[in-house]
Amino acid sequence: MEQFLNKLLEKNRAKCQFGSVADYIPGLDKADRNHLGLCIMKTDGTVQRVGDYDVKFTIQSVSKPLTLMLAILDNGVDHVFSKVGMEPTGDAFNSIKKLETHDTHKPFNPMINAGAIATTALIKGRDAQDKFRRVLEFFRKICENDTLEIDEDIYRGEKETGNKNRAMGYFMKGEGYIDGDVEDALDVYFKQCSILVTAEDLARVALFLARGGVLSNGERVVSEYVAKIAKTLMVTCGMYDGSGEFALMVGVPSKSGVGGGICSVVPGRMGIGIYGPSLDKKGNSIGGYSLLKDLSKELSLSIF
Ligand code: GLU
Repeated sequence: MEQFLNKLLEKNRAKCQFGSVADYIPGLDKADRNHLGLCIMKTDGTVQRVGDYDVKFTIQSVSKPLTLMLAILDNGVDHVFSKVGMEPTGDAFNSIKKLETHDTHKPFNPMINAGAIATTALIKGRDAQDKFRRVLEFFRKICENDTLEIDEDIYRGEKETGNKNRAMGYFMKGEGYIDGDVEDALDVYFKQCSILVTAEDLARVALFLARGGVLSNGERVVSEYVAKIAKTLMVTCGMYDGSGEFALMVGVPSKSGVGGGICSVVPGRMGIGIYGPSLDKKGNSIGGYSLLKDLSKELSLSIF
């Protein structure tokens, strides 16, 4: 198996030269665009690691299904979806367009920046610091990794340059989709995006969802229903405005981030974590996407 995975990985590493690393957040541009790593964790306990699976990178948007689950645990499903929708936008991840043009002005879904900021604003805590402490604790639990920390430089870079996110935050506050302090919500959001992970950590997140919300020690953290909500939104909205094509070509609930991570869930079978910072035009890991296409075909992974 390892030899087979290595072969697929090296074949797809060649694709990395056709993309580029994100540079709109200071620090992300330091990534090596030829890095490509894969970790597969099966529900039977088998683990496969190949390529650059142990390189750390910031989780970015792969954090979004996690904070969605925590927001639901804190507030219940109905309240969360009164503040954020369930529909794909077909626009870029950071687009502000539909917030203004749609009649309700409600952020479309929790997997894009606007909806994720509204979701993070729902996390409970005394202040921004306490809220982020709870977020980090939750991420550590799901990743089964107590050493997770943020990359302080990327966090500062995001905070300094995140004016589009700030604009969306204030717009949503004006429309009643954010109740508390916008700067607090943004601060927690920027920090959650700056959490350092590896492909192995993302494989654990995916395995957790593949097992319907259960950790490897058997502890249930979220209900099957909440895990299903996260997986469904990953299918419809998880790969930015490339989610439709991805559903056809790969066919497993996945979430990508501009740091190069992809977390892919094969329900009941396995969790897949990928790192490949060279991105395609839509912001998805170019080598990672192509590697998942091959894996899906070779291992018959599509849920459809
Ligand atoms: N922190 C990034 C932003 O808000 C996340 C983007 C992403 O990974 O899609 O722009």
